[in-house]
Amino acid sequence: MSALPEFSKAAVLRQFKEPLKIEDVPVPAYLEPRAALVKMEACSICGTDVHLWQGSLSLKVDLPVIIGHEMVGRIVSLGDTVRTDSVGQDLKVGDRVIYTHTSCNNCFFCTTARQPTLCVNRRAYMYETMEKTPHLMGGFSEYGYVLPESGRLRVPDSVPSELASLSSCALRSVMNAMSQLGRIEPYETVVVQGAGPLGLLATANAKVRGARKIIVIGSPAARLEMAREFGADVCIPVEGTTPAERLEQVLSHTQGRGADIVMEFTGVPAAFNEGLQLARKGARYLIVGQLGEGKVEIQPSMIVKKNIQVIGSFSGDARSYALALDFMAAHQDDFPFERMITGRYRLDEVNVALERMKNYQEIKPVITF
Ligand SMILES: [Zn+2]
Ligand SMILES: [Zn+2]
Repeated sequence: MSALPEFSKAAVLRQFKEPLKIEDVPVPAYLEPRAALVKMEACSICGTDVHLWQGSLSLKVDLPVIIGHEMVGRIVSLGDTVRTDSVGQDLKVGDRVIYTHTSCNNCFFCTTARQPTLCVNRRAYMYETMEKTPHLMGGFSEYGYVLPESGRLRVPDSVPSELASLSSCALRSVMNAMSQLGRIEPYETVVVQGAGPLGLLATANAKVRGARKIIVIGSPAARLEMAREFGADVCIPVEGTTPAERLEQVLSHTQGRGADIVMEFTGVPAAFNEGLQLARKGARYLIVGQLGEGKVEIQPSMIVKKNIQVIGSFSGDARSYALALDFMAAHQDDFPFERMITGRYRLDEVNVALERMKNYQEIKPVITF
């Protein structure tokens, strides 16, 4: 390593709900053989960041942490043995990369089940304390450490850093969910619950994959309007309508049957029951947005009687990151992805950005460096 700083400015969360503090966090002096150090280009903000900050995630968090997990960085130092990224493209200092939470390749889930996001030895960015090496485990930081076991994907030159950033969480989660869903047939109508970043990206994806009709249910109105530009044929506002009225509308667009496919991206527990209602008999129901601790009462017989396939989808593996970057590169002219970036902030403005995200005043704000 040549001329790397000893410290990186980073936004550290020491107590849930408290503002993040900009602190000097040590840059590791030693790079493990397959690791990399990146200088952050951008880190977009996700609903999960807000939930972690508020202490409302149903995942373990080892405070104090550097928040931020949708990052794209430029490699400033690379382990000696690394020549390529996770799909075999040349990788060198100066390239931009997005990188995955880790999977070990040595456990039941990695190998037998081939579900690496469920790896028992998984290490995830922004959940590990910044007090232990390698310290730089979050995205709201000038520098970031890419763990040896992390998948890493070179960002194509045609994809701007802000869009690569949102590919590294929102879009890769959608790509993973779509892989788990399987094909969308040309006669199938898709209902997308939620018009946030995942809902919009899923809408674009369903469009490209040939859905017959796409109905987006969401709020607020401005976001919902944007869904049309991402391929929605019908938009139904949540505000000012009852679940019964929304069901009525979905039925009217599906010859009274209900949706062939329902996708949940709201994170609101009550949306699950509504989705079960909106689904036709024999439908597939994909659940992606629920990561909180909220509960809801359900009638399990509805799943049986309607013969519904309920599919949960968590995070995304290196394949999903690769597919996300490819989707972004291929469809930049088809959908206004850049319009999802609603605010740009410096690192020292991170609390303002998080607060605005929490209040639904942003779709996808991004910290730029
Ligand atoms: Zn995220
Ligand atoms: Zn594993």
